[in-house]
Amino acid sequence: MSIPFEPGAPAEDDHIPLCVPEIGGNEWDYVKKCLDENMVSSVGPFVNLFEQRLAAYTGMAYAVATVNGTSAIHTSLLVAGVGQDDEVLVSSLTFIAPVNAIRYTGAWPVTIDAEPDHWQMDVDRVEDFIRNDCIWNGDELRNRVTDRRVKAIVPVHILGHPVDMDPLMEIARNYNLAVIEDATESLGARYRGVPVGSIGDIACFSFNGNKIITTGGGGMIVTNRKDWADRAKYLTTQAKNDPLEYVHNEIGFNYRLTNIQAAMGCAQLERLDEFVEKKRRISGHYSAAFSRLPGLKPMKAADWAESTCWLFSMEVEEESFGMDSRELLHRLLDGGIDARPLWQPAHLSPAHHGAVLKGSPVAEKLNRAVINLPSSVGLTEIQQEIVIHAVMDLTKTA
Ligand SMILES: *Cc1c(COP(=O)(O)O)cnc(C)c1O
Repeated sequence: MSIPFEPGAPAEDDHIPLCVPEIGGNEWDYVKKCLDENMVSSVGPFVNLFEQRLAAYTGMAYAVATVNGTSAIHTSLLVAGVGQDDEVLVSSLTFIAPVNAIRYTGAWPVTIDAEPDHWQMDVDRVEDFIRNDCIWNGDELRNRVTDRRVKAIVPVHILGHPVDMDPLMEIARNYNLAVIEDATESLGARYRGVPVGSIGDIACFSFNGNKIITTGGGGMIVTNRKDWADRAKYLTTQAKNDPLEYVHNEIGFNYRLTNIQAAMGCAQLERLDEFVEKKRRISGHYSAAFSRLPGLKPMKAADWAESTCWLFSMEVEEESFGMDSRELLHRLLDGGIDARPLWQPAHLSPAHHGAVLKGSPVAEKLNRAVINLPSSVGLTEIQQEIVIHAVMDLTKTA
């Protein structure tokens, strides 16, 4: 039986996707090696190599591969000691995965608003929460309203741009809070010269199809603590306590990455710097074109940030642009251009109704006003011109 697929067949239409993988390095060779050597499953040399290389890239001592980024976050929370009825601070403006992962542990999310300039977790709001809503007894932080222990912070580096980590780490150290970096959107970014993912106690990456490098699906945990890395490996491999006999002292998970996926990851990682450079060029080109138009405000990088510009994002001001973000979004979609909004802020998510959630006016405003534009590494100059002109043609002044 053959599959109905013609290699080299032309693309069905000229639609411009938001963010698709770029495959063209050693992926084919490395995956073929897995098949040739009958090493297709979850133990294999590429898994070890991918872990070593990602640890080296981020400057961390240990890395543990996982089946996706969400399982990396779930595992990291458990390893950091987050459990039933703890509270965990998390960015309100994020893809929902880290908020879900907090609930998987039985803990509760406390959403922290975004700062208006760079849209990341607002560290001043973290301080406000601790000062106004918590009691510190010299050992533990407790939410005075719910009487729950506040155990950890999950800063999410959104859109390729780092959170302001120095003041956040200082707060975390003062109040005994573990810091789990959700760096799933920001592999390759730097904070004050240091790789994202190397600042907190433990960090997570994703290799989903739309991320800067992909394994189809996959994730990674990095940390400098050997005991945490060992525990992450243990929990992600069904908590096996005897190498031969099937003895399990705890309930574990099957969160392993396969050797085939890791092979692809190794090939992708070889090209990460090139991908980042291309993303920055795309973003710079959009920014230059749109900052000349009324009512469009491209996302700005902070002075502490070297962003990867994973997705190009801009605010649309209805008054001066002539239509709101959603009308622009739908006009672009109708024209075959895959624009997207930002995520519904977590505190508004029906899935998390009734959890401990704080209002987040900045996140709400950004959710209403921001759209993302096609930002694939493989976006051609012609495609980018098509997107830019489509937007220009829709301005009030056009
Ligand atoms: C993509 C993403 C994840 C989850 O990664 P998966 O590999 O899709 O499970 C987690 N957090 C954020 C912010 C993400 O964008």
